[in-house]
Amino acid sequence: MTGDSSQKLFKVVFILGPPGSGKGTCCHAIQKNHGLIHLSAGDLLREERQREGSEVGALIEAHIRNGTIVPVEITCMFQAMRAAGDSAKGFLVDGFPRNQDNLDGWKRQMSGKVDEKFVLFLTCPTDDCIKRCLNRGEGRSDDNEESFRKRIDTYNSQTLPIVEFYKKQGLVREVNSGRPIEQVLEDVERVFTEAGF
Ligand code: UDP
Ligand code: MG
Repeated sequence: MTGDSSQKLFKVVFILGPPGSGKGTCCHAIQKNHGLIHLSAGDLLREERQREGSEVGALIEAHIRNGTIVPVEITCMFQAMRAAGDSAKGFLVDGFPRNQDNLDGWKRQMSGKVDEKFVLFLTCPTDDCIKRCLNRGEGRSDDNEESFRKRIDTYNSQTLPIVEFYKKQGLVREVNSGRPIEQVLEDVERVFTEAGF
């Protein structure tokens, strides 16, 4: 424990992997089985984009379409964790931190407040990822071939170094998600059980 001992640390598991690797799908299953709170950075940004009167909606949409990453000050991760409060058993932080700016902002706001358990790193061949994104029918403005290519470029150049950063700390648990969902979830389940969830 660091800091004020009366303050409970937020338990956090990060979920990272390329677009279409199944981060959200795995989080839904884990959240149900383990009572953890799923916070998708992308979903939070899409909510803010839809909010009437949002001053950053257009900026968020431009980043989403372009596959680039919104400045961390706008990503509502910290507020969302605080809003969930002390009763939360832990958080599944899905799709964050995805670049150095995200990681720096996270550390600025959360150091001493979180217990980072591990990073679930989903790996999946790009061809499968693109098929999944183009076929999932969620009507997302970035689920088209052009945006997908940009998202993959951003992922390779900016997110993989963040995975490396956590790998050096021995925190990365890798699961091959380019397989049928039952097999993926079985491995994911094992990772959480081994971590004491
Ligand atoms: N995004 C962002 N910061 C985040 C998470 C998401 O800027 O912390 C933006 C980014 O433009 C990304 C998009 O939201 O491409 C969709 O993110 P999401 O995690 O929903 O989808 P993914 O590309 O991982 O399938
Ligand atoms: Mg997602």
